[in-house]
Amino acid sequence: MLELLFLLLPVAAAYGWFMGRNSVKHTELKDRASVTRNLSSGLNFLLTDQEDKAIEQLLELLDIEAATIETYLALANLFRRKGDWDKAIRIHEKLHQLKLTKPQAQQIQYELAKDYFSAGLYDRAESLVTPLINTPRWREPALKQLFSIFTASHDWHKAVALESVVMQSESRSLKIALANMAVEAMQNAPNSEQLLQLVSVNPLAIRPRYALAEHYLAIGQTEHAKPGLLSIIKQKPQWSADVLPLLQQCHFDGDEWYQLLSQLANKQNNVTACSLLADWLAEHGSAKAAEQFLLDKLHQQPSIRLFQKLLQVRQHQSSAAAEALLSVEGLVQAYLANKVLYSCRNCGFKTRQQYWLCPSCQQWETVEPITGIDGR
Ligand SMILES: [Zn+2]
Repeated sequence: MLELLFLLLPVAAAYGWFMGRNSVKHTELKDRASVTRNLSSGLNFLLTDQEDKAIEQLLELLDIEAATIETYLALANLFRRKGDWDKAIRIHEKLHQLKLTKPQAQQIQYELAKDYFSAGLYDRAESLVTPLINTPRWREPALKQLFSIFTASHDWHKAVALESVVMQSESRSLKIALANMAVEAMQNAPNSEQLLQLVSVNPLAIRPRYALAEHYLAIGQTEHAKPGLLSIIKQKPQWSADVLPLLQQCHFDGDEWYQLLSQLANKQNNVTACSLLADWLAEHGSAKAAEQFLLDKLHQQPSIRLFQKLLQVRQHQSSAAAEALLSVEGLVQAYLANKVLYSCRNCGFKTRQQYWLCPSCQQWETVEPITGIDGR
């Protein structure tokens, strides 16, 4: 019902404008009569729940009076948010035909492009919004809209072609999006040189470094994979759950691995690092040392995964209790099997799968490993 109130606003504004005029010229009297007729029938259609006909009548008024444009924009946006894209398009298309100031015309152009995008008409949306990237006021929203279009249509190369414009912008999210789409563009044939180039021009995004490290690991050049993975952990310690298993495939000198895990376990309280450190202690120290370390950590922060690790360590220590501990561990494992592993920091979307693009809010690099009692 809310949009009905909005429909009444242009009616009231247009009617007030006409009533307020003092001229008694014949043509104006005719206009007033026509407007009053349109208003009356528009209201009538509203009252009888005939929204389509009401919009038609109220759009008629736009031919005469453009002063109520803001109200029509608000109404069209309401329809778009409700999923009534057809109605939003009809209003914006009508507004688009009016002779308006340049800023108003550009805003309508942008809004209409958003309608077309929502309705899946990507080509029309793209051709409307592309010219707006040349206008400072609209550059950033227009680029974001274009990126949404290219993401939906998987036109990664079109996004990459906008690199010089994006790099001039201040937007962090646009630069991260561009880096991710550049990786997508070369997904079928990743090559070290192109990925290295991407890493050097995109320090904000972690995807190029991740993709480069995966590429080096895949071709067996583990020594080259290591620096990029270490820099990801330094920049985003919350990614340790995914990055540490990759780093495990690399070579570490002396106590370098132990130092890295200790730092992540003690400074970040990272569960994956604690678990790997317990493994290291069991291997290089003793099972007792690993057990004590895990007990200390569990006293500091409750964690189901560290409790599971403690059960595993104890199984190795006590053959008498091993069977009972194994069955408890099985229960813990079953509990963890249904827990989500990632959460989007932007919209809260939860999943067990890693996504570079959040399926819910369509933002890049916002889905991260979760922390907390069930976290990693
Ligand atoms: Zn999200």
